[in-house]
Amino acid sequence: MGYSWLVGHDHHHNHDHDHGHHHGDGEPDNHLKPIEARVRALETILTEKGLIDPAAIDAIVDTYQNDVGPRNGAAVVAKAWTEPEFAARLADDATEAIASLGFIGRQGEHMQAVFNTPDVHNVVVCTLCSCYPWPVLGLPPVWYKSPPYRSRVVMEPRAVLAEFGLELPAETEVRVWDSTAELRYLVIPMRPDGTDGWSAGELAELVSRDSMIGTAVADRPASAAAGISTEATG
Ligand code: FE
Repeated sequence: MGYSWLVGHDHHHNHDHDHGHHHGDGEPDNHLKPIEARVRALETILTEKGLIDPAAIDAIVDTYQNDVGPRNGAAVVAKAWTEPEFAARLADDATEAIASLGFIGRQGEHMQAVFNTPDVHNVVVCTLCSCYPWPVLGLPPVWYKSPPYRSRVVMEPRAVLAEFGLELPAETEVRVWDSTAELRYLVIPMRPDGTDGWSAGELAELVSRDSMIGTAVADRPASAAAGISTEATG
């Protein structure tokens, strides 16, 4: 009987689920989703066997959050800063412009670029979950997925940005863009002063992950940040 097999199968499945649940042994991680629990368990076993170093894993995740992933986005921004034609293309159809650089993949099918100006500062959130433009920014940071960020940046964006160390002029309008499964946003920060003549490669170094989410602005040139006179270049 096909149905009894299905019922039996289903029951077996539920049994397994309950089995695992009841044998959590009071570990503090019982609230983890199954996939998170499996990852945690694997990490624990591999660590105990001396096969991996948790600090190395943290370093790898950090690298993908801060360096490898966002470098794609930084290349997009730097190209927009140096090539007006590309900037126009990016404004018109970000998905196409970004794909032309080879940055395609999941969570990047429908992109929109939002450009910061002296009058408008853009910041991105996903109020429902954690939608994020993976092809250009890599893995989302933990705070992006946190309920406080997701709710507060909509209600009090200036206060949240201030906590990130970003104080905007009072006359600058703050626009908050809510990502969805259908549409992901990439903030194009303003090009910093003192970068005339810089190559796209040099400029990309100034483009942080957070500046493309909108919780920061692009870095200033090191000489300016350090307060060193740049008269020689003027
Ligand atoms: Fe989401």
